[in-house]
Amino acid sequence: MQTILDEIAQQMAQTLDKGEVATYIPQLAQVDPNQFAISVALPSGEMFSAGCADKHFSIQSISKVFTLTVALGRLGESIWSRVGKEPSGDPFNSIVQLEHEQGKPCNPFINAGAIAIADLLLQGHQPKETLAEIIQFIRFLADDDSIAIDEKVARSEIETGARNASLAYFMASFGHFQNPVDAVLGTYFHHCSIAMNTQQLSRAGLFLANNGINPASGYPIVSAERAKRINSLMLLCGHYDGSGEFAFRVGLPGKSGVGGGILAIAPGKASIAVWSPGLDVIGNSKLGTQALELFAAKTGWSVFGE
Ligand code: GLN
Repeated sequence: MQTILDEIAQQMAQTLDKGEVATYIPQLAQVDPNQFAISVALPSGEMFSAGCADKHFSIQSISKVFTLTVALGRLGESIWSRVGKEPSGDPFNSIVQLEHEQGKPCNPFINAGAIAIADLLLQGHQPKETLAEIIQFIRFLADDDSIAIDEKVARSEIETGARNASLAYFMASFGHFQNPVDAVLGTYFHHCSIAMNTQQLSRAGLFLANNGINPASGYPIVSAERAKRINSLMLLCGHYDGSGEFAFRVGLPGKSGVGGGILAIAPGKASIAVWSPGLDVIGNSKLGTQALELFAAKTGWSVFGE
């Protein structure tokens, strides 16, 4: 495994076209694109890494996997009345489908869907309490109490969040929101601004590779059925309108973020986190996808066969 990761890191270092960092969030625009990290966490507790696996980055939309898991834990299947389970085929911040679907986003991973989940999570709580719950959950999964929100990124997102505010107000116009739009947006921006490194992220995803059980404690985080379903949503919706391409090239459930991270799950085998800040035109990590493509080919771990 270490040899595979070293080879991938070396190949990524030699790749000239590293994509473009996200510029619509000014704080992310400042990140040096010449960085790469990969970590692989195995259910046995072993961890393998290459590149700058200690470096923290903004997990952005990868946080939506964790908020979905918390929402399912708290509210169960009732959440599916607020968000769908279908791939969107549209950009992550698209507003067009919301009108056709009367304010019900087609899945929990596009921005509108994650904002709807944030509204659900806020019910009966202050934003601080909900954020504490999300952070506590991620810290528990990663077995690391140092994981925190990067306040600078959160502020940067709030200041430039006109599109997300539009999505939220548009949904609210259908009467779906139960909480003040500002509180929902604040919660959403803050959970997107959680900073983690690839080691922490790969560990946090292990329950999805291990039938819902956190292997370190043996504690069931979700049922095996729920883990399977979260994985299926990641496979079909985790890369927005690039989900088909990602499935075609990598063949693993994955969730990307505009900070350049990707969490990929090889069910029964491993949880893999990659990070490289340069993005493709869709907003998914360019080298991250390339690295996972190589990884899946070298290990033969695609869910579609060797
Ligand atoms: N916080 C980002 C946004 O709302 C998340 C988008 C992403 O990672 N794709 O635009």
